[in-house]
Amino acid sequence: MNDKVEGIIIKQSDYKDSSLLITVMTKEYGKITFVATGAKKPTSKNASRLIPYSLNEYLFDYKEGKSIFKLKNISLINLYRHLHEDIDASLASGVIGELCDVMTYEDYDYEQVYQLIHDAYRYLNEGKRSDLVIGITLSELMKWNGIGANVDECAICGNKNVITISAKDGGFLCKDCATSLSISPRSITELKEFRLLNKAQLENYDVVEELIEDAHPYVDILVEILRLHHGIELNSYQVYKTLLPLKEA
Ligand SMILES: [Zn+2]
Repeated sequence: MNDKVEGIIIKQSDYKDSSLLITVMTKEYGKITFVATGAKKPTSKNASRLIPYSLNEYLFDYKEGKSIFKLKNISLINLYRHLHEDIDASLASGVIGELCDVMTYEDYDYEQVYQLIHDAYRYLNEGKRSDLVIGITLSELMKWNGIGANVDECAICGNKNVITISAKDGGFLCKDCATSLSISPRSITELKEFRLLNKAQLENYDVVEELIEDAHPYVDILVEILRLHHGIELNSYQVYKTLLPLKEA
């Protein structure tokens, strides 16, 4: 009774007339869902406290084997203010939230994923580049799920001498394989940058930031691998890509 857990809200959706479903990533229990009864009523004490991508403490009654719980109370630990003030950081937060929602299958390491999302939001909140935070988070989750891009050799024949990248084939391609599939070569810089992004961890962010000027083309490839090979459509990334130019306009 009255269990307490810390976690980050990664998704929020309507539930029945006046309630909300809150998906939260926690360190202790992994991904869990809370029903916030009546949270859409203006009089609800929880209504103003349910803020996407914020870190909170939740009060509920834990029962083993269940994944949906009634939320009794919520108290804010960290709002990550910048995520709600900056359009780029806000859109990127949506991508990170969706990634952690759709890429956590059975038997995932709760602590590892919790730490990843925690660090990703902290970095975005500090104003770090969204292309890199999204790219590194995505490549980490893909590797942990055993579906990382092959950036060590030709994804088809294993030849170490590679000249291009193919989302359809899941990574690097050698000259022979690329020629037979009519895929154009890429520059050495592109190959190096794509490899680096796929080997990086968030803790190496500063190094990666110096070496990759724009990671969006590489994130596009990873998103395409997810779509083609794993049937995952990252809707939030499409929104991010569509709205991002507005910021620069
Ligand atoms: Zn090959």
